[in-house]
Amino acid sequence: MNKLPRSAYVHIPFCHRRCFYCDFAVIPLGNKIDSLYGYGSKTVKEYLTFLNKEILSIKHKSSLSTIYIGGGTPSILNPLQIKDLINLFKDNYGIDYGAEITMEVDPASFNEDDLHGFINAGINRFSLGAQSFNNKILDQAGRRHYRDDITQSCFWLKKAYDYSLIKSWSIDLIQNLPSSGFKEWQEDLEQTLKLSPPHISIYDLNIENGTVFKKLVDLGRLSLPNDNESFKNSELTNFILKSSGYSRYEISNYALPGHQSRHNRVYWKGIGWWSFGQGSTSSPWGEKFTRPRISKEYKKWVTNQWKIKLEPSLVNEENIYKELDEKIMIGMRLKEGVNIYKLVNEQNWDGKTSKINLEKLFKQWETFLESGLLIKRGNRIFLSDPKGMDLSNQILVSMFRWWEKVN
Ligand code: SF4
Repeated sequence: MNKLPRSAYVHIPFCHRRCFYCDFAVIPLGNKIDSLYGYGSKTVKEYLTFLNKEILSIKHKSSLSTIYIGGGTPSILNPLQIKDLINLFKDNYGIDYGAEITMEVDPASFNEDDLHGFINAGINRFSLGAQSFNNKILDQAGRRHYRDDITQSCFWLKKAYDYSLIKSWSIDLIQNLPSSGFKEWQEDLEQTLKLSPPHISIYDLNIENGTVFKKLVDLGRLSLPNDNESFKNSELTNFILKSSGYSRYEISNYALPGHQSRHNRVYWKGIGWWSFGQGSTSSPWGEKFTRPRISKEYKKWVTNQWKIKLEPSLVNEENIYKELDEKIMIGMRLKEGVNIYKLVNEQNWDGKTSKINLEKLFKQWETFLESGLLIKRGNRIFLSDPKGMDLSNQILVSMFRWWEKVN
């Protein structure tokens, strides 16, 4: 049997309402939700029942070294519900000593008492979805919180960290939101640094189908930074964060020494992970499997797992491997890149074919290597920082072209 996954992602799909850029598998429950006793609690409890069933359905369980509770808005749950969830893993999988247990929190839906409740439940790392500190930009993005909610949340998180109640915490920002020009973005970065989070995730805005932003783009009513402005924003991010001691250990993630997210590295390293909950994607043995995004379908799927035994990708650890292009794509997100020779040697190509195909890949990447966007050092190949990381799409597209030709 291959090694069992040591990491688990848990999806809590509830949100108060859907933000204008978001296409995640979420269930908007409105502002009045009280997940334990009041409005929306029936929906939440029913979901948790199915989620628990799914967690228990895995046959070969192994103790976990990272757990990530994401969403949605997990902080909509009561600390007691989070505690039950963690205890479920503790009792059935085991949780390693020193495991990293992260939870996403939303500045508009938690307070200091909740924070301590979540810490008592076992959470030791928090990720705060700030997105921006500019109230106008937050409003335009459909967020429910304002700048003061973020600073207040950060104050609580920092205090908990300073008292060693948690191991780390992170702020999420979105780069290139509407109305976020150079000046606004600089203010966002400077404000973030004032709050001294040990970890910062910076995601580029993507316009996804079915979102309010997509409709506004189609109507020509959304003012987004152009390519040149986006590039300048990226350069600024790199300059400001690096000169403040943060290392860009992955395309979208910056950390002070000792604060890289262990859970996220599991995804990027291509090591297997479990995943539970509506719309979530697991990859226990290499092949990815995504659960239904719609509640009704997800519940039906969980029920079937019990009746007909598990979905093959969850149990069949034999003969499943990631395609080489996917391994390269995922590995290249990391600062250290990939050992390209090792990856190619893992293919079922004979020595001569491996050599020819590798030469073709280097030919495909020639201009990127010459211009310094890609760096080759020994057997490793990685994106330069910041230029290569910022233009990673072009480099990956050329690699996919190579893969289509040689495969
Ligand atoms: S809070 Fe997060 S998950 Fe929920 S709608 Fe907004 S962006 Fe999506």
